[in-house]
Amino acid sequence: MNIGIGYDIHRLVKGQKLRLGGLTIPHPAGLSGHSDGDALLHAVADALLGAAGLGDIGEHFPDSDPRYKNAESAIFLKEISRLLKKSKWAIVNVDAIVIAERPKLSPYKKKMAANIAWILKISPSAVSVKAKTHEGLGDIGKGRAIACQAIASLSKGK
Ligand code: MG
Repeated sequence: MNIGIGYDIHRLVKGQKLRLGGLTIPHPAGLSGHSDGDALLHAVADALLGAAGLGDIGEHFPDSDPRYKNAESAIFLKEISRLLKKSKWAIVNVDAIVIAERPKLSPYKKKMAANIAWILKISPSAVSVKAKTHEGLGDIGKGRAIACQAIASLSKGK
């Protein structure tokens, strides 16, 4: 079994759509980025790539590539899922933390986890998403950014 870790942080910008875990969450500000800025999916993507020793999200989907401008980050996970399959890796589980002062994400945790499982075509019981605040500290605590951490484990199949 292999384990990988992922981390991402994006700035919150007023008037943008907030995308997290592949969902659109009502909030006056959204995450800026070349793609849709979905820091949760990006952290999960890096955890999966790391576990498989397949590099990182920036190598596979460079932010200089116009194809990924405003792209839905689910396409990154779908492609990574295909690469894992090709290398005979099966996803055992994904666990993630979203660190956001606002909005309150507890009503969306289960939906985000279910959506990640759906994107990766794995059982919803294999994905967990947790949410916490930053206790008002620093840029995340001031609501200027959202950070995400993820860990993934893979097993080698036949
Ligand atoms: Mg990112």
